[in-house]
Amino acid sequence: MLDNNKRSRKPLIYYVLIAGAIIMLLNAFVFPALLQRQVQPVGYSDFLRMVDAGQVTEVQLDENDRQLIFLARDGGGIEGIYKTALFPDSSLRERLEAAGVSFSAQIPTQNSTLLSFIISWILPVALFSLLGKVLMSQMSKHMGGGINAMSFGKSNAKIVAQQETGVTFQDVAGEEEAKDALKEIVDFLEHPDKYASIGARLPKGALLVGPPGTGKTLLARAVAGEAKVPFFSISGSEFVEMFVGMGAAKVRDLFQQANEKAPCIVFIDEIDTIGKKRDNGSGIGGNDEREQTLNQLLTEMDGFDGRKGVVILAATNRPESLDPALLRPGRFDRRIPVELPDLQGRVAILKVHAKGIKTAQDIDMNEIGRATSGASGAELANIVNEAALRAVREGRDVVTQEDLMESVETVIAGYQRKNAVLSERERSIVSYHEIGHALVAAAQSHSAPVAKITIVPRTSGALGYTMQIDEEDHNLMSREELLAKLTTLTGGQAAEQLIFGSITTGASNDIEKATKLARAMITRYGMSESFGMVALEAVTNQYLGGDASLACSAAYAEKIDDQVVDLVREARARADKILRENEAKLHELAKYLLEKETITGEEFMSILNA
Ligand code: ADP
Ligand code: MG
Ligand code: ZN
Repeated sequence: MLDNNKRSRKPLIYYVLIAGAIIMLLNAFVFPALLQRQVQPVGYSDFLRMVDAGQVTEVQLDENDRQLIFLARDGGGIEGIYKTALFPDSSLRERLEAAGVSFSAQIPTQNSTLLSFIISWILPVALFSLLGKVLMSQMSKHMGGGINAMSFGKSNAKIVAQQETGVTFQDVAGEEEAKDALKEIVDFLEHPDKYASIGARLPKGALLVGPPGTGKTLLARAVAGEAKVPFFSISGSEFVEMFVGMGAAKVRDLFQQANEKAPCIVFIDEIDTIGKKRDNGSGIGGNDEREQTLNQLLTEMDGFDGRKGVVILAATNRPESLDPALLRPGRFDRRIPVELPDLQGRVAILKVHAKGIKTAQDIDMNEIGRATSGASGAELANIVNEAALRAVREGRDVVTQEDLMESVETVIAGYQRKNAVLSERERSIVSYHEIGHALVAAAQSHSAPVAKITIVPRTSGALGYTMQIDEEDHNLMSREELLAKLTTLTGGQAAEQLIFGSITTGASNDIEKATKLARAMITRYGMSESFGMVALEAVTNQYLGGDASLACSAAYAEKIDDQVVDLVREARARADKILRENEAKLHELAKYLLEKETITGEEFMSILNA
C-alpha cells in the first residue's frame, strides 16, 4: 500500500518527459536511419555506367528532393537501393528505355511530409498515451481503485457533504455504551448555544475504535442523522494523493467547508492510513506526503473554534498504530470503543436487519445469535442477506429458520477470521477460565471487586477477560494485595485443570503477568524474606514499559529465579484450594457466563452469594 502510494505520486510528469525524449531520439536517429536504410549515394556518371551495364532494374524520380532513386544489382548480384542527385540530362529517357529499365516519377505532394509527420510524431504520442492508460489502470487496480492517477486535475474537487444521512441510533443495534458516549455530541450539535453560554468546551474529536464491521461508520452517520446536521465523510486513503501537498490541500479544503456549514460532522474513516506513527528513522524523504497531510490535520484541529459546532469523528481498527499527537487533548481525546456484539447485541442486530425482509412466523433469532458468537455486525447483516438470497434461489417467498442456519455456515466459514468463532468446547473452556479468575479474586479479602466478565473476543485477541476495578485509586499496593493479585492471575489455569483435567495455551498472558509481578516483588519491592530491602534490579526505562535490568551477581540471579518460581507456585496452590472448595459455584457461574457471554459484577456476586 505504502509502496504503491509512493509510486503513484511521481509518474505523470516524469512520464511525459521521458516519452518526449524518446520521441525526439527516434526522430533524430532511428527513423531516418530506417527510411534510408542501405540507400547508397552515387555519382551521376556512376549511375549511367550502371544503367549501361544492365545492373539497374528500376528508377524512380523524386522531384521533391531533386534526386533519382534506383534499384540495382552490383557485380555479385546483390540488389541494393541507390540514389543520385538529378543532373540535366535530356537523353536519360532513351537511355533507360534502351536498357529496359522500368522508370517512374513520384507524385510531388505534401502527403509525404504529412505522412512522415504522422508517423514520427502523432503515432508515437498515441502509442505512449495508450500504454500510459493501460499502466495507470493497472496501478489503480492494485490500489483498490481508490486513486485514479488520471484524476490529478480534479483532486481539488469539493468534498460534498451529505445533508441528511437518514440514519439514526435505531438503526444501530446493541453498542449501547458507544451510543451513550455519542449522545452528548448529538446534544451539543443540536444546542450549541447551551454549551457556549456556559463556556463549556466539548471534545473536538472522538475516535471510534473497534474491529472491522462493528458499525463504526454506521454510528458516525447515525450521529449526523440524529442531530440532523450535514455529514462530511472522507476516508484516510483518499488523502494520500500522488503529488506532495495535495493531501494537505484537501484537509484545508475540508475544514474550510466544514466551518462554513457548521454545525456539522466531519468523519475521517480509516484514519490510521494517514495517522500512523511518524518515525524519524525512515531515512531521507520518508513519506512526506502522508506526514504533511497528518500535520495539516493536526494544525486544522488545533486551529478551529471548538464552540462553533464542528465535531470530528474518526474511525480505526488499529488504534495502537496511531500517532500519539492525534490523541493529545484538544484533538481525538475521546476514545469510544466499539466492540464485537455479545449475544443480546447479536440478536438485536439480526432483528434490525430482518426488518427489511419477509420472514416465516417461527423464526428464532436467539438460536442464530447463539450460533454466531464472535461475529461482527457486518457479518450478521450478511447472514440475513444470504438467507434471503437462499430463499429466492429455492423459490420461496419467505425466509425460514433453515435459510438462516445455512447462511450462518456459509458466511462464518467464508470469513475464517482468526479467533472469530469459537467452538462450543473452546467457549466452555474460556468460561471456566474467566470464572476461575473471578472466583479466586472474590474469595480473597485483599483483591479488587470483579466489575465485568466477558467471553466475547476482544480486539486485542484475548478470548475473554475478567475486569476488576478498585473502589478507590491506588498508588501504593501492599504485599497482601500483590499476593492476592498473583493468586487471581493463576486462577484461570487452575480452573481449567480442575474441570477439564488439562490446561490450554489460553493462560499465556496470565503467566507473563504473574512472572513479572512475582519478580518485581522480589527484586524491586523488597518483599522477599531472604533478600530483604536490597535492590536487585534497576528500572531502565521508566516511561516506556518499565523494563528492568539485573543488578546483582550471577549467584543471586539464580536464587531470584528460584524464588519467583516458588512465589507463583504457592499462589497457584492457593487458587487450586479456593476453586476446589467452590466447585459447585464454579460450574453454576461458568454455565451462566456461557449463556450470557457478558455478565456484570453484580450478577456475579448475586449468584455467588445465593
Ligand atoms: P465498520 O465501519 O466498523 O467497519 P460499518 O459501520 O461499515 O462497520 O458496518 C458495516 C455494516 O454492518 C453496516 O452498514 C450495517 O449494515 C452492519 N452493522 C454493523 N454493526 C451494526 C450494528 N451494531 N447494528 C446494525 N447493523 C450493523
Ligand atoms: Mg467503516
Ligand atoms: Zn486468564
